[in-house]
Amino acid sequence: MAHTEERTFVAIKPDAVIRGLTSTIIKRFEDKGYKIIGLKMLMVSPEQAAKHYEEHYGKPFYDRLIRYISSGPIVAMVLQGYNVIKGVRQLMGATDPAEAQVGTIRADFAQLKEYNSVHGSDSAESAEREISIYFNPEELCTEWKNMTELVTEKEDFI
Ligand code: UDP
Ligand code: MG
Repeated sequence: MAHTEERTFVAIKPDAVIRGLTSTIIKRFEDKGYKIIGLKMLMVSPEQAAKHYEEHYGKPFYDRLIRYISSGPIVAMVLQGYNVIKGVRQLMGATDPAEAQVGTIRADFAQLKEYNSVHGSDSAESAEREISIYFNPEELCTEWKNMTELVTEKEDFI
């Protein structure tokens, strides 16, 4: 059976960018073999923040979450790979760094669930939605597709 690569949206949140952890966190994803097909640093606008976290609107932590994600630059990425949505969530660890497995990004680099250093989409639907909030289609490097086809043809590469 042929395997199909997925895409997911990842953000290095302001607390981690400010502490100089951008390269360290990107390395976790690259070391796993995921391809970075989109990458940018930006300040999240109020509109982007509201769209991104619309599922949490009205929750006690919502206002603080919106302030946090807009408080400094984020590094937004689209990653592509096999089972990348689930795999990124595993590399990130549980929402609360105190509950996250040692070795995950949140356990290793964060202390509080309110400032947990990284975001990753939780489903294929969320991934598509979140990618479209932060990236235009032409900003994604789709020439990676050629590499994907090559690797898929030559099963011994994977
Ligand atoms: N969050 C928070 N307090 C909570 C739960 C969540 O501040 O009690 C923040 C935290 O930054 C988290 C984000 O809201 O990453 C989104 O929450 P979600 O439950 O979707 O967690 P995630 O998918 O990021 O693990
Ligand atoms: Mg979530």
